[in-house]
Amino acid sequence: MKNTLIQYRGGGYNGCYWEWNFFYFDKNGKFYNILSTGRNGVKDEKDAARLLAANENSTYFYRITTKKARKEFVRENNPFLVAKIIHWLGENTKLCLSWPCDNCGIFCFAANLIGTGERLLCCDCMSTFSCGNCGEIFESRNQLIDTLQQAQKEFPEVPEDLLNKIIENFAPICYYCFERRVEFELENKIRYWNNLWYKDRLVV
Ligand SMILES: [Zn+2]
Ligand SMILES: [Zn+2]
Repeated sequence: MKNTLIQYRGGGYNGCYWEWNFFYFDKNGKFYNILSTGRNGVKDEKDAARLLAANENSTYFYRITTKKARKEFVRENNPFLVAKIIHWLGENTKLCLSWPCDNCGIFCFAANLIGTGERLLCCDCMSTFSCGNCGEIFESRNQLIDTLQQAQKEFPEVPEDLLNKIIENFAPICYYCFERRVEFELENKIRYWNNLWYKDRLVV
């Protein structure tokens, strides 16, 4: 077998719990045991051959030299797991493959992809979906504020220069951080005016 990533049910701690395991054959048919856990994990190439001969229907094959197979692999699996496997392949084999971002569909090298809770994201999409203040990644742009117009609509009582300052420095920013920032800036302003008032009194 060549150029193929194999996914199967490994694990098997206490006899009942299984999890996805992976091995890979490169273009010369060289065997790589990528992720192997528990009692059902493949230990070596012989074990792998045994698993393949058993021909279980919960074993999946990806001809990862094709874009179609890489797309399928990303779509069908948990993003954390995908990120783990593609980083492993990038570091441990001579493979130089690009993988599709789950959001924009652009193919990127593993080093530029990050697995979030729901998706495998490229660096560009990552910055579009993460808060510029706390760094948390959101599933929807609706959970973030990224323009002054949007900020004005949501916080009509806050002075425009303050909203603008926050947007310029942190957008996109999550609602939680936005509110904290507004509070922080307002407090700063009050402190500033109090100080000025004191100074004036002292001078007089
Ligand atoms: Zn993307
Ligand atoms: Zn935030």
